[in-house]
Amino acid sequence: MATEPLLEVRNLKKYFTVATDFWGKPTSCLKAVDDVNFSIRAGETLGLVGESGCGKSTTGRTIIGLYQPTEGDVLYKGKSVAAGGKNQPLYRDIQMIFQDPYASLNPRMTVGDIVGEPLDIHKLAVGIERNTRIMELLSLVGLNKEHANRFPHEFSGGQRQRIGVARALAVNPSLIICDEPISALDVSIQAQVVNLLEKLQRELGLTYLFIAHDLAMVKHISTRVAVMYLGKIVELAQTQQLYGSPQHPYTQALLAAIPIPDPTVEAARKRVPLEGDVPNPIHPPSGCRFRTRCPHAMSVCAEEEPKLIDRDGHFVACHLKK
Ligand code: SF4
Repeated sequence: MATEPLLEVRNLKKYFTVATDFWGKPTSCLKAVDDVNFSIRAGETLGLVGESGCGKSTTGRTIIGLYQPTEGDVLYKGKSVAAGGKNQPLYRDIQMIFQDPYASLNPRMTVGDIVGEPLDIHKLAVGIERNTRIMELLSLVGLNKEHANRFPHEFSGGQRQRIGVARALAVNPSLIICDEPISALDVSIQAQVVNLLEKLQRELGLTYLFIAHDLAMVKHISTRVAVMYLGKIVELAQTQQLYGSPQHPYTQALLAAIPIPDPTVEAARKRVPLEGDVPNPIHPPSGCRFRTRCPHAMSVCAEEEPKLIDRDGHFVACHLKK
């Protein structure tokens, strides 16, 4: 595995204006992503987890250029991709699989045209070559050539997500941002889609940013995992390290909420309940943003924001871990 990062996210911020004054100057904003840093090496899967509204999907969408960053930069193979449409070839290398396989496919297009659309946009293939490539992509994701002439409504949720994967693969990307790719699917289908993503990673050498709130599935697929809370990364480590020895109270609470399929172990284990709701991101708590729900909060936690500190590759942002 290469040591140079394929993707680097540096001090990324994405704020959404929610109120302006008479002159249109922002007076209040929602800090969806607030100074986020991480990198992804070629061939690895970085899991990005957290509760709904923590900013993980906004991070993915800002990386791929669907949102213009408020501040910070995204580097792909050392080159900035955050400068809007100026870096089209780089954007071709980064593709996205969306959460909702129902909403992300055009219901008026056949599957063949949906999968072939990126080939047309990037002028990669025409005529017989285009058709051959579409058949190749459908077969790669476990669909067959008869499916090319059908419409999205004729497919199940799992099959629709396979169509979304085929479309993302059409331009031969290196990095795929999987934005909650399984959360809209039945539990029985989720494992099939994750297995497909793993198979494609092995066969095509893909790199994934896997965004999800299901920690069990993230553990299964990820090389490293980053935990986000209210726009910030609070912990980032190798998967075994993070699940085996979580350091941040938020990560500990998230992991404690995962049920263990052994009734004896489940009954005996000590739970650290996560109380309260995620605070309003327009007015986040001072200091540590987790302090209103943290069982270990101290006075310093309200005054000083904890920095994400590297301890031998295990990054934690908590005053307890100084
Ligand atoms: Fe809890 Fe303080 Fe650590 Fe935040 S910094 S997680 S409030 S102990």
